Amino acid sequence: MKCPKCKSIDLHPTKMEQGLSGMGCNECKGVFVSLLYYRDWAERFLATEAESEQAEEINSEEVENTHNAMSCPKCSRIMTKYRVSSEHDNRLDLCANCDEAWLDKGEWSLLKSLNLGSKMPLVFTEQWQKQVRQQVSEESRRQRFIDLAGNDAIEEADKVRQWLKEEPQRVHILQYLAYD
Ligand SMILES: [Zn+2]
Ligand SMILES: [Zn+2]
Repeated sequence: MKCPKCKSIDLHPTKMEQGLSGMGCNECKGVFVSLLYYRDWAERFLATEAESEQAEEINSEEVENTHNAMSCPKCSRIMTKYRVSSEHDNRLDLCANCDEAWLDKGEWSLLKSLNLGSKMPLVFTEQWQKQVRQQVSEESRRQRFIDLAGNDAIEEADKVRQWLKEEPQRVHILQYLAYD
């Protein structure tokens, strides 16, 4: 199997964690991991360390993110990208056909830093992706508002928003304000 990123480099078995191996690239440090093995590992991991899973600190400069579409090293189909979180631009690549995922250099550490080390398949769910999209669009909405109205205004607006959320007459107040 060749690295989907470096193309000509062979993948070699590599240890990600105690009891979890993937096929790694010595050149770009990415790793291809079978979700079948992963789920088995995560189940055992959760059984023994559920309470003690600690978020790891990571150095974001050491995390890479491939923007190009990549082909699955096994079956050559184009893998699908799944964004990890709204705060990080990183995307995991999944081949649904082989049930294997490609993680760029540092993305495994990134998952662990987000407490997703034992819950990676969550990222591949429609629910997770929807939540990430909502957070991203909320964040860009806020940014647009800040660009237009400034930081003080958003602080005030957030207070009003919070107050409105709990206000039973919300609908009437909004209607009244809209005609002001
Ligand atoms: Zn590579
Ligand atoms: Zn595949």
